[in-house]
Amino acid sequence: MERFTGNFTQQEPIPEDAIAAAVEVMRGGRLHRYNTQGDDPGEVALLEQEFAAAMEAKYALAVASGGYALACALRACGVKPGDRVLTNAFTLAPVPGAIASVGAVPVFVGVTEALVIDLDDLAAKSDQADVLLLSHMRGHLCDMDALMAICDACGVTVIEDCAHTMGARWNGVLSGRHGVMGCYSTQTYKHLNSGEGGLLVTDDAEVMARAVMLSGSYMLYGRHLAAPGPEVFEDVKYDTPNVSGRMDNLRAAILRPQLARLDHQCAAWTDRYRVVEAGLRDTPGLTVIDRPEAEAFVGSSIQVLLLDWSDAAVQEVVARCAARGVELKWFGGAEPAGFTSRYDSWRYAPCEPMPATDRVLRAILDMRLPLTFTLDDCALIARIIRAEVSAVFQAS
Ligand SMILES: *Cc1c(COP(=O)(O)O)cnc(C)c1O
Repeated sequence: MERFTGNFTQQEPIPEDAIAAAVEVMRGGRLHRYNTQGDDPGEVALLEQEFAAAMEAKYALAVASGGYALACALRACGVKPGDRVLTNAFTLAPVPGAIASVGAVPVFVGVTEALVIDLDDLAAKSDQADVLLLSHMRGHLCDMDALMAICDACGVTVIEDCAHTMGARWNGVLSGRHGVMGCYSTQTYKHLNSGEGGLLVTDDAEVMARAVMLSGSYMLYGRHLAAPGPEVFEDVKYDTPNVSGRMDNLRAAILRPQLARLDHQCAAWTDRYRVVEAGLRDTPGLTVIDRPEAEAFVGSSIQVLLLDWSDAAVQEVVARCAARGVELKWFGGAEPAGFTSRYDSWRYAPCEPMPATDRVLRAILDMRLPLTFTLDDCALIARIIRAEVSAVFQAS
């Protein structure tokens, strides 16, 4: 019997040129983003300039984490304690957590069998909040044109959580560029790796000026290369609190060479995704998610559905795959485990029962595809999942 021996949490090493850049920052001792000398703009300001260009945005800000980026975006867009904020029922803990961190209250919107936000449910709930924190969970982009039409019609401001979609596009437009702000994570499991880190982009000068002030720029916003001019800060600098969460030059130095290779990496992820997807197609009992043509996704993880299976049968598949070295995450578990949790396990946030969403969550099997896996590894992983799903399906 075939067994997979790779490691689902093993990312690629930091590239040598990034290591060299990091060593240079450490030798200089100037790690704080504003601790620069002469006309050296510093690694963080340069990263922001390059990231804005890569995301085709006017402005960018680098911060301490993806979760910080989300909370900073909510504050910069005027979310206040007690406000309600629409968000996905299918997402990860930092998303409702960011809403709670500004004293606001999440209102969960359902998920479809295509693993995107349910636009009918969104339309029905759109009068309950002024802001949608839209999580492109596991890299699935909904019909962004339809979503923006719904939100524009109701005056709902959209903030995009692109933790899994950096480099992805809907109808040619980059993820993060449909809403007023795009938020990204550079935590180790995401598309760029600085251990911890986050980024924000927008074309809105006032929103970015507030985000820069919030991030802890003191009055040094003039040193930014991807922020609006000083006149915009005049309007916000006295009444925007400093909630320190800057990125440092060491992380930025590690990220800049990686950003230059982002397109190449994204293509490599999607190659792996396509091999697993092809290997799993037409497995009895298993549903592969058809990806829309308008969606240029980044296949850094893959999800399949075991729709309407019993919990015991799904758990048996997970256990049998694990015994052969294939780590699957199940979103149906009642208890939050590892990085996986369900909307009703965030007990600080009120929620109504969502039967259609629960049916989908109970069916989701989720797997990371780190770039340390070869295409042959991916074909082997698919063979193992296919065999184990078939065995359990036939027995039940
Ligand atoms: C990782 C992640 C975040 C936040 O990122 P951190 O950098 O870990 O704070 C936000 N949303 C989703 C969906 C994520 O997976």
